[in-house]
Amino acid sequence: MQTAYTKDELRSYLAPVRGNRIVLVPTMGALHEGHATLLRQARQLAGEEGVVVASVFLNPVQFDNAGDLATYPKTPEQDLEICESCGVDVVFMPTPDIMYCADRSITLEETHLSTVLCGASRPGHFAGVCLVVNKLFNLVQPTDAIFGKKDYQQLAILRRMVRDLDMPITLHGAEIVREADGLALSSRNVRLTPEHRAAAPIIRKSLLAAAEVYAAGAAVEAICAQVRAELESVPGVRCDYVELVDAVTLHALSTPDSLALLAVAAWFGDVRLIDNIELSRS
Ligand code: AMP
Repeated sequence: MQTAYTKDELRSYLAPVRGNRIVLVPTMGALHEGHATLLRQARQLAGEEGVVVASVFLNPVQFDNAGDLATYPKTPEQDLEICESCGVDVVFMPTPDIMYCADRSITLEETHLSTVLCGASRPGHFAGVCLVVNKLFNLVQPTDAIFGKKDYQQLAILRRMVRDLDMPITLHGAEIVREADGLALSSRNVRLTPEHRAAAPIIRKSLLAAAEVYAAGAAVEAICAQVRAELESVPGVRCDYVELVDAVTLHALSTPDSLALLAVAAWFGDVRLIDNIELSRS
């Protein structure tokens, strides 16, 4: 496995392998089993001939909260070990100075899917995601890229970016990887207090219960209110949003039969956790 710290090192590594399948997995580091699953899927997709590229870059441009950026866990040595063990060929690990010019002046904003859910409470977040992913796509020029459904809205927005800008890249959505007790793996989980870590599986439990009552025909507002009440019954927990939306448009369900998404963001103390579940009535 190679590590590229600069754009030139990355380009030099990739120049001789162009023409093969190149699968990119972008990450912000502090890798866990969720990331490892994406990396192993990338290895499988690339096959023996193909190339797997992982990027490990804590992108400051997508953070709307300086405290969140400052406390985001960083484990670069362990990240490299995980990449190696998952069969990654090259890890791109730039610093912000290498990634961005100080006087950069181009922004890239998706204007429909980004206005709801996390986009409503994290201004500029998805513009930062689109910018960094676009840059990574230009640098790596992958044939494929894998993103987790844990960040469902991110995946939906990036699918829209690829479609609307005619990017010749196939995006793949990976299922959410969870702890045995149901909590979605996240780099931020290590920041939970022991009490909140113990309580956090309630997110998954309330989403599963909601899926059942949705299938049985319960009203959208009642379902969201129930999930919110369950989560906020935990001391120190406050919901940012609980919304049941169309899984493609992320806005109100167009027909009762469309694939739906029940998405949650909740503060457990000062740690913001997100999770979601796809729902259908048929
Ligand atoms: P991050 O480092 O948080 O930006 O995540 C990098 C990629 O890993 C994104 O595509 C995430 O959606 C994905 N990811 C993070 N956690 C999980 C998880 N628990 N299950 C599946 N994918 C995940």
